[in-house]
Amino acid sequence: MPELPEVETIRRGLVAALCGQRILSAELRRHDFRRKAQADMEGHLSGRGLSGISRRGKYMIFHFEDGGEALLAHLGMSGRFLYFPPGAGGGDGRHDHLVLHMSGGGRAVFCDPRRFGFVELVPEEKLPTHPALAVLGMEPLSGDFTPQALLRVLKGRTSIKAALLDQGRIAGLGNIYVCEALFEAGISPFRMAGSLGKAEGDKLHAAIRAILERAIAAGGSSLRDYVHADGSVGRFQEHFSVYGRTGQPCPRCHLRRGGVVSRKVQSGRSSFFCPSCQE
Ligand SMILES: [Zn+2]
Repeated sequence: MPELPEVETIRRGLVAALCGQRILSAELRRHDFRRKAQADMEGHLSGRGLSGISRRGKYMIFHFEDGGEALLAHLGMSGRFLYFPPGAGGGDGRHDHLVLHMSGGGRAVFCDPRRFGFVELVPEEKLPTHPALAVLGMEPLSGDFTPQALLRVLKGRTSIKAALLDQGRIAGLGNIYVCEALFEAGISPFRMAGSLGKAEGDKLHAAIRAILERAIAAGGSSLRDYVHADGSVGRFQEHFSVYGRTGQPCPRCHLRRGGVVSRKVQSGRSSFFCPSCQE
């Protein structure tokens, strides 16, 4: 599933390719996503000038010059948002559900084989109270995300792993970046969320920021379906310390203590960690 760095990378690619152009026409080829798309979406998108694309957690929001309905998009498990420049083929496959024909001659295409994602028109003023967005917690790259704020949302007797995956506490983190951030901070995924001290909170805060920033700089992680808006792949998977590396030497402590990366299933998800140096 695309996490914050992947969605942010796609957003940046689409902003560069599309913003300032008008949608000449829109084709919605199916409506039956996880949230049903409006039947009259095509008419509501055609002719409008795209002014910007923002991100909230793993959601992208397309904003228009007229300030009317925005287009809210979620990529689900396997969704892609691709841009095909003028003259390039593509965008007519059976999983290409929404095609935007742009005034610059290119096409933007929402493609989602498993249809866990969705596209939906939402009036700008209703975005903050939209059920998908209203429940989201802090943005980990925003100014609100401080070590103190992190410790505040990590209260409670759930595991630190489950708390960091909870989109209502922090928006945009998924399994990959939670495993990597906990490793970088030297904190076991099995610790209780409320048990972190101030120094550990500082370390975890810095690790989350650093991992996300490095992952965005690398264009995200391409494991299965994820590609950039231009179809190219991310490279952060080449820099994983623990994710998917069961049995490999721990990059931090193998030489000193012989640590080896371990995998355990925790609330239905794989946790990758080093039992020797994550405490
Ligand atoms: Zn280790």
